[in-house]
Amino acid sequence: MLTNQTQGYDDARLGYQRLDPHRPEAIFEVTSAAEIEEAVQYAVDRDHRIAVQGSGHGLTRGIDGGVLIATRRFNGVRVDATAKTAWIEAGATWQDVLTATAPYGLAPLSGSFPGVGAVAYTLGGGLGLMARKFGYAADHVRRIEVVTPDGKRRKAEDDPDLFWALRGGGGNFGVVTGLEIDLFDVPTLYGGSLYYDLADHPHALEAWRDWTQDLPDEVTSGAALIPFPDIEPVPAPLRGKHIAQLQLAVLGSPDPIEPLRSIGTPVLDTTSELPYLESGKIFAEPDRPDSYRSHNALLTDLTDLTSLPKNAIIGLRHLGGALSRAPQVPNAVGHRNAAYSLTVLKPGGNDVDRRIFDPWRASTIGRFLNFSYEKLTPTEVAEAYAPQDLTKLRELRDQYNADRRLIANHEL
Ligand SMILES: Cc1cc2nc3c(=O)[nH]c(=O)nc-3n(C[C@H](O)[C@H](O)[C@H](O)COP(=O)(O)OP(=O)(O)OC[C@H]3O[C@@H](n4cnc5c(N)ncnc54)[C@H](O)[C@@H]3O)c2cc1C
Repeated sequence: MLTNQTQGYDDARLGYQRLDPHRPEAIFEVTSAAEIEEAVQYAVDRDHRIAVQGSGHGLTRGIDGGVLIATRRFNGVRVDATAKTAWIEAGATWQDVLTATAPYGLAPLSGSFPGVGAVAYTLGGGLGLMARKFGYAADHVRRIEVVTPDGKRRKAEDDPDLFWALRGGGGNFGVVTGLEIDLFDVPTLYGGSLYYDLADHPHALEAWRDWTQDLPDEVTSGAALIPFPDIEPVPAPLRGKHIAQLQLAVLGSPDPIEPLRSIGTPVLDTTSELPYLESGKIFAEPDRPDSYRSHNALLTDLTDLTSLPKNAIIGLRHLGGALSRAPQVPNAVGHRNAAYSLTVLKPGGNDVDRRIFDPWRASTIGRFLNFSYEKLTPTEVAEAYAPQDLTKLRELRDQYNADRRLIANHEL
């Protein structure tokens, strides 16, 4: 156990998101499910609140006092190549999972950045690089082990409602010690980004939007608008430019992306056949701790592209395909009818101005909490779910996390 008098306290509490970090009274750097149980029991015995941190990408507001369960050293991955599944321990990042599964030519439903914690990503739904083909990561979870805030270690599948809630309902019900996911026969994919200078190609984003209207499920893509600073770590062709980055992941033939090339010559083209292990190159997101806030909306269409702010990073994802179909085993993921996800991301500590989203009010049907890096109001959290699902989620939260001992990044 670490306290603020102990060496290593700061290292253990600071994750990727550097805004408003946890300031716990005690940190348990766990390496096993038994140690998670002990940490929860410690908190129960002292009537302390509990927060959990994997890699810290999704932190919204740190806890003051209480117990922080830091899972990053509990990061084993066990692959069953015959069953095509992997058991992922609480603190494993997608990089840990990719490294373990690649030798078998198998791939998980990981996302844009391999440094992200696989468990929290999946509890929040998990929108990955092959999402339109296979659906949300939460749609392909077979088993979950969880220590509920009363200190009991449980198999979530023993209570189908708890199992339903954990897959999409986030970290509101207990501390997950590990989960079993499906793997897919994807040794390689075609992917990368086309970077267009908006000064030369002002219609690049419209072209991407129009192209997404009629695509096979094998193509999953996103588009980011990024005002790159004119500084050294930025790749030379992008420095000081306002860039539209078209982020492409294609299973099978790359032919479907050919029409995009008619936009013109990109300043940088990183598309190629890639081992899935290297799929982090597609979005090529920066790998250093940072301070950021974001706000997200799920949209039914993307008619207006002219109102997007120019001084923020805009992240768009094309949804649909398998994301819109009900999974074999139902879960709490909301708004499957959304066609696009719109995220506005800003560096620094100020929340994103909600008025930015006004032009899309008519097409907004909710939000995706994994892309919301800020403390949302209860109403804003509620908007991530269908109303009847929200009621059920809150009932389950009251059942398993009755006194709200466990504080999630997005509290129901
Ligand atoms: C650069 C970047 C790229 C991203 N790309 C994607 C993407 O492509 N698709 C996508 O869906 N999301 C993406 N995300 C969002 C990411 O999936 C979420 O922020 C996720 O919660 C991060 O998990 P973490 O372990 O890294 O973060 P943490 O901040 O450690 O965890 C986030 C929250 O999850 C809960 N939690 C963590 N571990 C546990 C546990 N063991 N049991 C119970 N609750 C737990 C806690 O409430 C915690 O506050 C991205 C985020 C970033 C910053």
